[in-house]
Amino acid sequence: MSKSAIDRMNSISEQGLCSGCGICQSIAGSSKIKVVKSMNGFERPVIIGDLDDATVDKIFQICPGTRIEGLPKNQLSPNTKTDNVWGPWHRIVRAWAGNPKIRFEGSTGGVLTALAKFLLSEKRVDFILHVKASSKEPTFGTRFLSFTEADVLEATGSRYGPAAPLIDIDEVLSRGSPFAFIGKPCDISALRNLARYDERVDELVKYWLTPVCGGFMSPSSTDNFLTRNGVDRDKLLSLRYRGQGCPGPMQIETLHEKKELHYLDYWGDDESTWNLPFRCKICPDGIGEAADIAASDTWIGGSPTRSGSKTDRGTNAVVVRTETGIELLEAAAKSGAINIEYDITPDDMSLYQPHQMHKKYAAYDRYQGLADEGRLVPITKRLRLKELANEINQSTRKIQRDGTIARVRSGKATESTPNSSQ
Ligand SMILES: Cc1cc2nc3c(=O)[nH]c(=O)nc-3n(C[C@H](O)[C@H](O)[C@H](O)COP(=O)(O)OP(=O)(O)OC[C@H]3O[C@@H](n4cnc5c(N)ncnc54)[C@H](O)[C@@H]3O)c2cc1C
Ligand code: SF4
Ligand code: SF4
Repeated sequence: MSKSAIDRMNSISEQGLCSGCGICQSIAGSSKIKVVKSMNGFERPVIIGDLDDATVDKIFQICPGTRIEGLPKNQLSPNTKTDNVWGPWHRIVRAWAGNPKIRFEGSTGGVLTALAKFLLSEKRVDFILHVKASSKEPTFGTRFLSFTEADVLEATGSRYGPAAPLIDIDEVLSRGSPFAFIGKPCDISALRNLARYDERVDELVKYWLTPVCGGFMSPSSTDNFLTRNGVDRDKLLSLRYRGQGCPGPMQIETLHEKKELHYLDYWGDDESTWNLPFRCKICPDGIGEAADIAASDTWIGGSPTRSGSKTDRGTNAVVVRTETGIELLEAAAKSGAINIEYDITPDDMSLYQPHQMHKKYAAYDRYQGLADEGRLVPITKRLRLKELANEINQSTRKIQRDGTIARVRSGKATESTPNSSQ
């Protein structure tokens, strides 16, 4: 086994760049890498077989920790507009699922579920690749294939724990059937990266859908939160982070009790309490630039209020980035699968998502800070990061760069070598 291959593979996790998408297991094969719960609570690639340099080279080109690109050039069209913060777009609308049950069950307004259900009922795809709650690790998500509308409904709601939807993407592609992929923006990046090596991706992935993503909660924080609320994690049967209203209650079931807590109990009242993995803190694309459609919340300022969430029925902001996305949105609206309220602009998105806007402006200088410390720096393309950094003043840029240097030096950007906890 090549020592340099092992060291380089482990460096992705050790330097805090792994998002846990799972695709390296599929690339290397499950006899060489297993993406499993590591001792630090995250899903991480554990090397279990003979890993060679060529495989690690390929992983570096596909892993969304090391390479993140915007929308492929062939998906741009003369009608594509590009906002420096919000990326390529054709139309941005406020919308919700036409079916009240889906709107209620969904994380926000159920648009992603409604689109997935529409794609299946119209027989445009054979299945949806996405995630649902894991029964083995109830705080995690697990990769799931939905073949029926009932399957899709089972997977509604955002999962704020680790989830590796691409763990067996080679097998999923080997089915040879057309499908839609719903994954976080980093998952979308990984699969788009794979498309450069595997022509089945562009042939079979007919629709690319994503939730706008500010990051997931570090597993240790979720565990501490459960303990603080008197929940024995080992006795967990199920955990639903949100949905059934907007955001809806966090629903926890153990062997002995059922509990409901508020979204704000979990996330806190503002961004300063979000305990995100390092990869999420430096994410250059939480807004799903490489998807056909990205769906988000519409809370002004990025968080719900306790009083507002009692009556909020859920409204998504839907950023449509491609011709494929426009055709889907409009066909789904025509059929009643989704209900479009009205059109909005990138400026509205920044009102709903100030944290995404800030992160987009900060990413370039955060990467400069990584380079200063001799760290791996993710390769980025078509995300306008340098242009955005040039729009802000030098002192703010310095704060971002110095902040990253401090984070690296204090160990906050470092993880232990992946090591299976099972
Ligand atoms: C980790 C995370 C962070 C988020 N951060 C933000 C944010 O900063 N701002 C914002 O406006 N919105 C954020 N969202 C998105 C928001 O919570 C809703 O998912 C989005 O508005 C779509 O709502 P919906 O009702 O259409 O989703 P639904 O109809 O409930 O469908 C959700 C779909 O997403 C898939 N999914 C859920 N969790 C995951 C996961 N962890 N990994 C991959 N796929 C998943 C499900 O399989 C399902 O298909 C985040 C979501 C996640 C998962
Ligand atoms: S981000 Fe994905 S491909 Fe990269 S190391 Fe983590 S699990 Fe593997
Ligand atoms: S913030 Fe970025 S890296 Fe983190 S889960 Fe979301 S898309 Fe992935």
